[in-house]
Amino acid sequence: MRVVIVGAGVGGLALARGLSDQGHEVEVHERSPEPREGGAGLGLHSNGTAALKALGVDLGGIGRRIDGLENRAPSGRVRYTLDVDAVRDHYGFECRTVPRRELLELIAAGLPEGTVRYGRICTRVRVNPDGTVSALFGDGSSATGDVVVGADGIRSAARRDLWDGDPARPTGWASWQALTPVPVGLAAGTVAAVVQGRQGMCGIMPAGDGLVQWWFDVRWRPDIPRPASPVGVLRRLFGDWTDPDVRTVLQHAKDEDLGLFEHVRHRVPKVWGKGGATLLGDAAHSFPPFTAQGADQALEDAWALSLALSDEGAEADPAAALRRYESARRGPAALAALASGTEAATRFSPPRFLGKDRVSALATRQYVGYLGRVSNILTDRRP
Ligand SMILES: Cc1cc2nc3c(=O)[nH]c(=O)nc-3n(C[C@H](O)[C@H](O)[C@H](O)COP(=O)(O)OP(=O)(O)OC[C@H]3O[C@@H](n4cnc5c(N)ncnc54)[C@H](O)[C@@H]3O)c2cc1C
Repeated sequence: MRVVIVGAGVGGLALARGLSDQGHEVEVHERSPEPREGGAGLGLHSNGTAALKALGVDLGGIGRRIDGLENRAPSGRVRYTLDVDAVRDHYGFECRTVPRRELLELIAAGLPEGTVRYGRICTRVRVNPDGTVSALFGDGSSATGDVVVGADGIRSAARRDLWDGDPARPTGWASWQALTPVPVGLAAGTVAAVVQGRQGMCGIMPAGDGLVQWWFDVRWRPDIPRPASPVGVLRRLFGDWTDPDVRTVLQHAKDEDLGLFEHVRHRVPKVWGKGGATLLGDAAHSFPPFTAQGADQALEDAWALSLALSDEGAEADPAAALRRYESARRGPAALAALASGTEAATRFSPPRFLGKDRVSALATRQYVGYLGRVSNILTDRRP
């Protein structure tokens, strides 16, 4: 089968990897003129690392394994610790922070030469009368396949066509994030921390090689111009927090390291495409990064879609295979989207009388259950 993928992000590349390993003819068209360098780091949970393994991608030693996640108050008091080790033991797959650039390189390294074409801006996706599907590009050219997959992220051009509009709306929040060698206490370990207060949140995750993935979630309006010094704004907002790691991050933060990512979300419909066209990853389900499930969900999509397209019968009726994929993935992806509200997280604080250990055990149990519900691969729910 000939498959045209729009977007060489985590999801598009992972799908290309899965499909080309199964003998499909695959091409990926990416808007950027060259491979993405930035994007800081990604925390991959057990479902994301399981999907990568199934797609033939061995993470090897890149990034840093995560064994625990502390939830702290702005004072630095640990409210509870999620036992990520126990989650790994339950599902058999680890959680890992990886630099996004390294992950993309690793996935792309297993693709046949010339699979990814850069500088190709998709403007439309069209289902042709003969059942084939075309991606049309800004330079007037097009690519036609049995299937076209829009894996082109939160402002997907493919989604605009397939859903007759772009329903992704800003949530009123954004992340300032960076991947830098900050000398915080936990940089050398395997424990990450999320500090939550009324101003927003700060996340700090060791990412290997002395690097730390850190971010601040703050209220944001799209019409506000980018501040001349984002670090100045963060110091004003979070300067009264006494958590020692947050203080160190603020002290070492540099304006030029920071990337701004606006949070958006939309309802996840039952059907994602038309005929031989479908969507994958953020294009199908954009949601805020609070639960760090966006890339994991894109990888789950890639795994499920490569299975659906390799089924017997998919060649004769690719549209039916795509609808099976959407139907399998819709529920878990919609639940992950629902659970990812930054706004609610900043107001949540477990009652202190329960005690740290009890809350930690409860949170870990909840998390194991949640991960099973947002995952197809960990619970073997195939399309
Ligand atoms: C601040 C922040 C932190 C995050 N942290 C985590 C985390 O820790 N863990 C996690 O699992 N997820 C995280 N996410 C979410 C994660 O980044 C996304 O969910 C994930 O990248 C989605 O992958 P994707 O392939 O669908 O889209 P993307 O990675 O956005 O890739 C889309 C690709 O399509 C290309 N493209 C766009 N438009 C066009 C076009 N018209 N034509 C051709 N190409 C096009 C883009 O250039 C891009 O390369 C985070 C997100 C943010 C904003």
